[in-house]
Amino acid sequence: MNEQTLEFVCPHCGKEDALTYSYSLHAQKDPERYSKLLSGTLFDYVCPECGNRIHLTYGLLFHDPAHKAMCFYVPDEKEVPGIIDSIRAAHNTEGGDSLGNYAVRIVTEDHKLTEKALIWSLGLDDKAVEMWKLTYLYHIIAHNEDFEADDSVMRVENGAYKIDFYRENEYLGTVEADPSLIPNVKERFLSRDTGVIENDLFVDTAWAMDHLTNLLHRPESSEPEDAPNQ
Ligand SMILES: [Zn+2]
Repeated sequence: MNEQTLEFVCPHCGKEDALTYSYSLHAQKDPERYSKLLSGTLFDYVCPECGNRIHLTYGLLFHDPAHKAMCFYVPDEKEVPGIIDSIRAAHNTEGGDSLGNYAVRIVTEDHKLTEKALIWSLGLDDKAVEMWKLTYLYHIIAHNEDFEADDSVMRVENGAYKIDFYRENEYLGTVEADPSLIPNVKERFLSRDTGVIENDLFVDTAWAMDHLTNLLHRPESSEPEDAPNQ
């Protein structure tokens, strides 16, 4: 069930090969693949002919019921609208919302899937992590206004939390970050409704920037604002 076959040619030796894989990955039922996902090696394949490591690209649905989270990895952006439709359909299932209070996300790069799996494995909220990463980004920008990152990825290396920054997929640099700040960030930036229905499927650096903008345009008070005279 859910099995797919990917045919490919080794870029090193030209050998034609095929990989049969399961489209879904259940964190608790498939610990071996889950562990590879967390270490960022799930999509690596060693060519049996030449022994070189190949990085394969194929879509996957990651499901982590223990942390009430799932993430669609959709490498082909043309398939994203269809995935969004299927998520909406699941939300509208008769007899109740079959996705309930799950965090449901879409990513289009496999390292972002690894990051989501890692965030949830640590019991963290990915929206809080995005806002936390953004505070580090803005701290860097405050000291170096030429630093223009549009993406950031959290990882844990020997127990140390690190944030890698990117611009247009180009690596810019890494900072070590303090995860004990995440609950404060969550309280400060996620406890208040922005008054805007936000996209919840793509929670990333761009989402965090939008969320912050929405918060800044929303008064602290719940009282309605007087309409400005314009
Ligand atoms: Zn090869």
